[in-house]
Amino acid sequence: MRQRLASVQDRTTAILKDLEHYRLSVENTSDGILLQDLKGRIIWCNDAYCDIMRVEKSDIIGRNPMEFAFPDDEQPSQAEIDAFTYDPTDSRLKSLQLFRNKRSDGNLFWSQLSVAFRTGAGGEDYAVLVCRDVTQQVEREIYLEDLTARLEHEATHGNLTGVPNRGAFLNFIKAALRNNPDGTVGLLHVDLDNFKMINDTHGHSAGDAVLRHTAQTIKSRLRKSDMVARIGGDEFVVVCCDSADLEYLGAVGQRLLGALANPFTWSDRSLIAEASIGAAQCEAGNTDAEDLLIKADFALYEAKRSGRGCIELYDASLHDRHAHETRLASELAEAIDTGTFDFSFQPVKNLWNDKVIGFETLARWIHPDTGRVYSPAEFLPIIEDIGLLGELDMISMMTALEKKASLARSGFGDLRISFNASPELLAHPDFINRLIWAVEASNLDRNHITIEVLETNNFGDTAETSSQGAIIRDLKQAGFQVFLDDFGVGYAGLSHLATLDLSGVKIDRSLVSCILTDDVSFKIVRKAIELCNDLSIAVIAEGVEDETTARTLQDMGCSLIQGYWISRPIPSGDIVTWLTHEQVPHAAIS
Ligand code: C2E
Ligand code: CA
Ligand code: CA
Repeated sequence: MRQRLASVQDRTTAILKDLEHYRLSVENTSDGILLQDLKGRIIWCNDAYCDIMRVEKSDIIGRNPMEFAFPDDEQPSQAEIDAFTYDPTDSRLKSLQLFRNKRSDGNLFWSQLSVAFRTGAGGEDYAVLVCRDVTQQVEREIYLEDLTARLEHEATHGNLTGVPNRGAFLNFIKAALRNNPDGTVGLLHVDLDNFKMINDTHGHSAGDAVLRHTAQTIKSRLRKSDMVARIGGDEFVVVCCDSADLEYLGAVGQRLLGALANPFTWSDRSLIAEASIGAAQCEAGNTDAEDLLIKADFALYEAKRSGRGCIELYDASLHDRHAHETRLASELAEAIDTGTFDFSFQPVKNLWNDKVIGFETLARWIHPDTGRVYSPAEFLPIIEDIGLLGELDMISMMTALEKKASLARSGFGDLRISFNASPELLAHPDFINRLIWAVEASNLDRNHITIEVLETNNFGDTAETSSQGAIIRDLKQAGFQVFLDDFGVGYAGLSHLATLDLSGVKIDRSLVSCILTDDVSFKIVRKAIELCNDLSIAVIAEGVEDETTARTLQDMGCSLIQGYWISRPIPSGDIVTWLTHEQVPHAAIS
């Protein structure tokens, strides 16, 4: 008997302990806990729930939280509340749910709810709700989602124009080509014609406005399935996913050009975004994005070449030209790699004493298969395009220096040599080092070496040290001669004479060749010679084809003459023979 009593006491103690544990847990958790009947009426709740809702327990017992826990704009009607009944078989209630709830002071918060259903000892059904305030977590998540979306947008869209950038464009076109293997993808490469001018004359904010205007003008004229992206400074691309053929694409391009030709107002100024367009349509089965890009780019190049402001379509004839130029480009790259160029040398003569003073080095390219001789006018633009002009000029420079050394060995040590230096050569990191090294190695007189530079608008670069002007000064200081080539047809002619430390100029053939027939050219050439003489810099007249022109120039005060009248450019191996046959007796020729 005592034993049974002891065991009842133990069980009672255990039950009480259990109850105490329950009470401690339920009343001290930060989660709100509710016991409801299946109509949602609160039978019991813990203090945490009251804290979360900021309510008194006595005020809510017997009420359905739907009456007070929802924000005003989501408040269910009384009829809906009356009709509410929990369905314990509803599987949706098993998962955690997120609600926007309202505290009694009107503050909103995010509440995460879980519901479980239990049947009490008397057979009555209960809903047990756990309500957790997750506002901080949700707000953090929303913030992070927002941030991710913003970063993603910034990574794929140009900030300035709001249209996608190069990376997004490449993804888009690759997907478009994959999804449309039937050849209905067309590409327009749009490039502004006057962007630099707008930046220069109206400032960068105006340039930005033009870019934004261009992006929006194009975007507003495309179908939803198409895309416009900005892929470079003033370069845009349009991908048309439903382009039936090149004709359709051409019509889209024409429409865009028409729209862009309309001026728009910015800051009380009228601006215009003139553009050129290259268009290429993909072929059925060809899903190579790179290929399509190259074609549109080539078409754009042709559009620029044929006068700008127009659209050029990549069709069969353009394809043939492109294929030809691509082949030439790779053959020329090979020629540069192996140094297999040919050079001719054109003499310059001083008419006062009828003496040859030196030669200009001029590049030629003999095609390895056909033997055809290509002139610089044919191959220089291609070499420039493939970024190898500096390399070619380096070969030309070394050839010139070798020629100077070999002429000296043949007894013509007093003859000068000149070579043409493109901006690419002047900017080549090895240029001055290699020049000086080669000159020292062959013990050449620096004063006999002339670098012919073309007028470019880079002379006045504000970054003084990297500008060509600074390089020219360095060359002069190192003892070399620097001549301004093609004088009279470049950018800022006369101002360069004052700012650049030049040894001399070469007056362009286009002016010289018509001094006898064109009064204006005559006057320009006469003034240019006068100016050079006043400034004590040398002047060479180029492209002199007859004696009358030569004597006229001499009368104007220019006695250094280059041109067919003296000689055409001479192949390397023939120079000594040519010099030997020159009437002027050279001391070194026996
Ligand atoms: P440039 O430096 O003005 O060279 C003179 C050009 O005029 C040469 O053409 C020459 O053959 C041509 N010429 C000379 N006298 C006469 C004449 O009396 N009548 C006519 N009709 N033409 C004459 P070329 O050799 O075709 O060179 C053309 C241009 O290519 C050169 O013009 C030069 O700017 C450039 N060039 C040539 N070789 C090189 C090179 O190695 N590097 C670079 N960067 N440019 C080069
Ligand atoms: Ca030249
Ligand atoms: Ca020239």
